[in-house]
Amino acid sequence: MHNLTIAELVKGLQEKAFSSVELTQHFLARIAKLDANYNAVITVTADQALKAAAAADKRLAAGDAPALCGVPILHKDIFCTDGVRTSCGSKMLDNFIPPYNATVVENFEQAGAVVLGKTNMDEFAMGSSNETSFYGPVKNPWASDSVPGGSSGGSAAAVAARLAPGATATDTGGSIRQPAALCGITGLKPTYGRVSRWGMIAFASSLDQGGPMARTAEDCAILLNCMASYDDKDSTCIDREVPDYSATLNDGIKGLKIGVPLEYFSEGLDPETEKAVRTALAEFEAQGAELVEISLPNTGLSVPAYYVIAPAEASANLTRFDGVRYGYRCENPSDLNDLYTRTRAEGFGDEVKRRILIGTYCLSAGYYDAYYGKAQQVRQLIQQDFEKAFQQVDVIMGPTTPSPAFKFGSKGDDPVAMYLEDIYTIATNLAGLPGMSVPCGMVDEKPVGLQIIGNYFDEARMLNTAHQFQQATDWHTLTPEGIA
Ligand code: GLN
Repeated sequence: MHNLTIAELVKGLQEKAFSSVELTQHFLARIAKLDANYNAVITVTADQALKAAAAADKRLAAGDAPALCGVPILHKDIFCTDGVRTSCGSKMLDNFIPPYNATVVENFEQAGAVVLGKTNMDEFAMGSSNETSFYGPVKNPWASDSVPGGSSGGSAAAVAARLAPGATATDTGGSIRQPAALCGITGLKPTYGRVSRWGMIAFASSLDQGGPMARTAEDCAILLNCMASYDDKDSTCIDREVPDYSATLNDGIKGLKIGVPLEYFSEGLDPETEKAVRTALAEFEAQGAELVEISLPNTGLSVPAYYVIAPAEASANLTRFDGVRYGYRCENPSDLNDLYTRTRAEGFGDEVKRRILIGTYCLSAGYYDAYYGKAQQVRQLIQQDFEKAFQQVDVIMGPTTPSPAFKFGSKGDDPVAMYLEDIYTIATNLAGLPGMSVPCGMVDEKPVGLQIIGNYFDEARMLNTAHQFQQATDWHTLTPEGIA
């Protein structure tokens, strides 16, 4: 059952080929048996899942089943879940049990999905390797000595290892696409404002966006149908009709104009990864699409601009973790200052502290204009690059990451090397554009991802493009050894 796609599971449940309780027991048993190898799941909600599955079976029997009725999924541990610990990968929230559901969680509940548990992640979603999690690193199912990517590495590894058919994730600078690429699955970061951020623990509010991870583009379409909604509880959520993303998957892509940015194929890109991506581009050409060389001249400035803006926003967002309101509190504080200082010193990990320091520095009087103001100007330039490009082309394609999954510890001492992992993904977050990653090859027995960037709210076209690619290739069906 774990090799079926979400589309197949929906059908199987409706045709009563299996029940949701059977399906849920099957995935819970896989998590219990296999997750010790991956560390992808922080919290398993077995009792709740089985109860939800039994309720789903009743609705299925009554012929009153919503879209995802009885389908098991996992939530990234950044989405607040009513009555279930939501840690955000941090010691700071190790004891935090939210009294409400995030809108995304609520949407899945309304759609009848069954939540198996919460996935591991980099602490507060800061990282590209899952090595910053308080709960320990996640292992890549393709190579146990290598990272799964981050920050949504738990969700990506869980889907790759067939511990769940799909999972939620978030992307601030690449955290859906990069782990999807490194784990050989499909992931989509929607347009900023498409998916509600309410109840999604904030990292950098002008960049954060939730999105789906699954094995196929078809499944991502099904999940996005459920995730995307207008929500008046999130003032940045955009009131715009949600199309049926499944309806246009089979449209032809003849005549599609694909922009290939020069800057995404330059120094730093592993030659074998480049080869896999170019082979994928040729497949699109074979299907009648047209490749157009384009330039995104400010690409090189995206990492520096991001590492001013994201830490600045993080430093403001994370002030709420002070030992007073919720989460970790140090023992026996001598006074208020000691409470703040020790709570934060003991509760946050090194990478989070580094970001808070950088962010606070950039925002301080005297430096604000030089750093934060400047980075916002660069952000504008990056956005204009894309605007110009989309006057010429329908989608943009390139590699998701410079190379396949790297080994644990190999970038641990050098934060900048780690930051460069997101060189191809960060610009879309700065511009607010949607992006996805689709498996497109293997290098050294590790997966490679093709990135598809779309224009604002053009997720349907991206999913259609990815689906057509997956109809003609089988990279998304490959299974890591020992999983089947
Ligand atoms: N790797 C990037 C960072 O560390 C992006 C993380 C993310 O998208 N959440 O900030």
